[in-house]
Order: sequence, then structure tokens, then C-alpha cells
Amino acid sequence: MSMNYDDSSSIVYINTVDNMIEQRDSEPLKFVRLSNPNRIYFDINDAVLVGEKKQLVFEKSDIKEIRLAQFETNPKNIVRAVITFEEDFDTSKVKLMSLDGNIIVKTSALKLDNDYFTTVYDDEAKNTAYSSIVANSQFVQKVKIPVSQVKAANNVMADIQRAFENSTLANADGQTYDSVVSVDVSSNLKLRTKYFISQYTPKNGGLLVSGLGQLSTSKMFYLNSPKRAVIDLPNTFLDRKIRNSEVKLCPDGSCKDTAKIGQFEYNKARIVITSDRAEKYIPIYSQDAQSLFLIDTDKLEHTTLSNTTSNINKAFVRKIDSKTNELILSFTNPVVYSVLRNDNSINFYLFNVKSYNEQDLIKTFNNTYYKPFTLSLLPQIGVRAGMGINKDDIVKIEQSVDSKALKITITKAKQEEPVIQKPSKKNAVKNKVVLDAGHGGSDYGAIREGINEKDITLDVTRRVESILRSKGYKTALTRENDVYVSLEDRVEFSENENPEIFVSIHVNSAVSTDPSGIETHYYHDYSKELADTVHKHLVKEIPNTKNRGLFKSKFYVINHTTVPAILVEMGFLSNVDERNELITDSRKQKTAKAIAEGIIEYLKVNGKK
Ligand SMILES: [Zn+2]
Repeated sequence: MSMNYDDSSSIVYINTVDNMIEQRDSEPLKFVRLSNPNRIYFDINDAVLVGEKKQLVFEKSDIKEIRLAQFETNPKNIVRAVITFEEDFDTSKVKLMSLDGNIIVKTSALKLDNDYFTTVYDDEAKNTAYSSIVANSQFVQKVKIPVSQVKAANNVMADIQRAFENSTLANADGQTYDSVVSVDVSSNLKLRTKYFISQYTPKNGGLLVSGLGQLSTSKMFYLNSPKRAVIDLPNTFLDRKIRNSEVKLCPDGSCKDTAKIGQFEYNKARIVITSDRAEKYIPIYSQDAQSLFLIDTDKLEHTTLSNTTSNINKAFVRKIDSKTNELILSFTNPVVYSVLRNDNSINFYLFNVKSYNEQDLIKTFNNTYYKPFTLSLLPQIGVRAGMGINKDDIVKIEQSVDSKALKITITKAKQEEPVIQKPSKKNAVKNKVVLDAGHGGSDYGAIREGINEKDITLDVTRRVESILRSKGYKTALTRENDVYVSLEDRVEFSENENPEIFVSIHVNSAVSTDPSGIETHYYHDYSKELADTVHKHLVKEIPNTKNRGLFKSKFYVINHTTVPAILVEMGFLSNVDERNELITDSRKQKTAKAIAEGIIEYLKVNGKK
């Protein structure tokens, strides 16, 4: 996926987003040494290079050039790496190794401390970790500390601080995040801190905290009287000069919110925001993990955060064990994001992400803990990915050194997936149907040209309700207006209502504008007959659209409800012609009529059984 060279420790990282290399750990990685020019090469089998071929050229280094290229494509898929050295460099010292699925080329005997991923958020942040500063020289401007000054470990912070003071901090200003200053420390030096806060300033009604090293946070929490939002930064050292001073977040007087930062423990900084709207504050991480921005979500404007755009490139899920799943999202460009972890949900805001392949992601999340993830493109914000999660589940988020990948690890407190029992028709209220209008409130579902999925689903659901009621059927709706209802609450609502069947109503979308047509989804085999019956009515009633057929899909609501349950995708909002039709009264009414007639036929046939 990417390549980084850290010349302070003479290490080349070749970063992958798969575990294939790990699986071959038993075979040592081999390379070939050549002369004229003095170089080595090695092949990475079963590998695909993301993006164009990659090349780094150096001036004052033992390594002159590193090149990565797709040497062979299908079916063999070989990526070849060529590293060219200075003529007098002894390449017999070079070692190849793999760590967490990444290939590491060591060109000298230095100790290896750094990893591709560093933690940026941890529910269980421990404060005792020792780690060295990430000196990623491709992206940093170096400040040299004379070795004579770096004597005893307890002098180190002071030395680094002095070095910072002498340098120009061309660091994040909320607009661009290009230049970072780092420190050239001797290789075996370990620091107690990962992050050094050099300044904090009010910015656009929020608080911008800038520093050096690798930022990480723990779970945000809230206090009352007065209302405060608190976030801790483990392994963080705060410049003595700026400790405990209070700043007004709106210097123009438009709000009364204030912020204070202190060195809470010797190795932990604490930020406290005092505001009537404390619970509205979210943390936003810059794409280089050098800056943290805390702001009231309602004041958020995507354009103030980043001037680069990124797309979700690929997603992988690894099942670590029965309780832990790990999701890796890779992006085309460094990502600016925030994590909002509440007791019962987790939301990611990917602020500079403009597109993603919904179908690919849905497939990736299937049968994993990320399955309940819903993704929405929010105007002015970017992409939001959110899911329900239990209070005791542990979330950890790591960011890659190049900010092009996020690793989201969820460890479930309890083993998931309760055994779904076959529905027992005896308990169900006869002729009762739960109708589930997809999305709602802050969850817009698909959005195209100002048209929201959540509005169409509610409109059609209400029409189905009205037809069923006029014919004497009982209905209950998971939402009756434009409000957010979590997937868990929809299932719980249905279970309490005790209907004969559950029908969820959605509008489809894709990144491509080509797909169109109707799909009906079911998961449990006992739901197939309902899916068949409703789908048959839909394609009969709306003959001009494509019949995309039935799908067995593990969507949360139709998997967790214990009565026959289906999810109708009534057409594609992403297709221009279909979108124009989906918003008409006639298409909505035909869709509602077909769903209602399918339900009635199913209930009549099943009632006789
Ligand atoms: Zn939907």
C-alpha cells in the first residue's frame, strides 16, 4: 500500500493491508544482491500494488533509491522491490523481516521499535507504555540533538523541548498538515512520551491542540455542574509554559465555552471543555495525527478541516478470535477523521472522504462485528459510519504512519450471535405487521441531488400502513416521523410488538450511476416465502424496472428479528432515471400497493396452514 523510509533508524517499511505475508512467516524472506549499481531486490508474491509504482530517491543516505513496481500481474501477482545503495555500502548486513503483515528492510544493526500502526484511541488506554518518537523522515523536517546532550533518560524531555524551541513549528493550523518537525534521537533511546503538546489555541469556535509525535486519546467523558467534556491524552507531555491556562473558545463572545489543559499525571494530559453543550463536543484527528481539534458538532464545517480529499480504497476484516475482529480501512489519501464513542454506539466521521463502494463494504462487513455499520454521505461533513455497540465492548483505533489506513479493533465483552430460534406462530398477534422505514433523523441513508433515502422510505411505509389498515390489518411502525432509531431499537420494538411478520423498506444506491431495479432481501430460510411473495407483487406492479431478484443477506434487522422478516430495496437513488421516478406519487403508491398486497397474500396463505 505504501512505503516509508526512516533513515534515523535505517529502516524501510513496505506497508501492506493484508495478512498474507504473516501467513508465510515460516519461510524467511529472501533477497538477491547485485552489483553495478550496488543493489538488492526481492519479490513479494501474491501481492498487488495499490496505485502507481512507488519510488523514493535520497541524497545523503546509504540508500540511494527504493523502487516498488508490479513486476507481474494476473495470475501470478508479483511486486518487485529494488533498493539501490551507495557503492561502498556492504549489503550483506541487510536483513528482511516481517512484522504485522508489513515487510521491513533493516540496513544496519539498529533496534526496531516503531510499527506501521500507532494507537490514536483506546477505551483501555494504559499509561505505562514506553515508546520511541516516530521519526518518519519522509514527512518530517529533522532537528538534530547533539549526542553529548542526550545523556541520561531524565534529561531527554528537556533536551527535546530545547530542540523544539529552537525550531520553527510549521505545524497544523487547521487548514494544512504538511510539515512536521521531529527529532533525530539515538536509536536505543526510549521516551516515556509519545506526544508533546506545544500549543493550544481557539479556532473556528473549537480548540486546536498541536504538538509533535504521535497523538493518542482515551474515551471522552462528561461531568456535570458545571457541564464539562473531558478527554485524556495518555503518554503525553504538555509544555510547562502553557499548563493550566484557560482559553475562551469564542474570543468574539458568540459563546461562553472555555477550555483548559493540564498535565494530569506525569505522563497524561487532560483537556476539559466547560460548556452547556459539553456532550456535543467531538475530537477530530488531523491526517498526520499531530493535531487534535475539539469542536461542537453543530459548528462543524468540513471545509475548515482539510483541503485534501480521500476515498475509501479497500476494506479488510480479520477475525482475531471469537471475541475480537479487526477492520482495516485503506484510503487513497491521508484521512482526517473523528471517533465518537458513546456507551451504546460508535461513530466515525471521515471528514475528507468523498466516495466509497457501498456494495464492496457491505460484502466485507458480512458475518463480522462490523455488519451493523451504516455508512452515510452527509452534506458538509463527509462520510459517517456508525454502529451500535455494547457498553462493555472495547474499541481501539490505530492509524498508520502515512495516515492512509485506520485499524479499528472491537473486542466484545460477551460472545455475540445469540442462537436464533425458529419463530413460534402461537405467540404472534394475528394479522399484525411491523413496518420499518429505513434510516431517519441524522441518518439520511443514501443522498443524491438533495433527495434523501430516509424521506422516501417513510413516505412509502406510511402508504403501506394506510392500505393494510384499510383492509383490517394491524400495523406498528418502528418510526412514524423523521427521527433516528438504532437498528437494535428497531429489533427490540418489533420483538415487543409480537407481529406475524417484519418488513423493512429501503432505497438502494451505488457509486456507479448504472444499477437500477428492485431487490428483496431475506436472511433466515423461514423468511424466504415472504420475500418471494412480496417480490412477485413488486415486479408485477412495476414492470418497467429491472427485476434484480432475491438476496440472502445478513442485514441486522432481518437477521435479529425472530419472525419472518424481509428488507425491500425499492430502486436505486443513484440512477438518474430511477431517482426521478422514485420521487413521484405514482411510483411510491405502486411500490406501497405491491408490498401491501404481497403481505396480505402471505398472511392469508400462512393463516390457512
Ligand atoms: Zn437503506
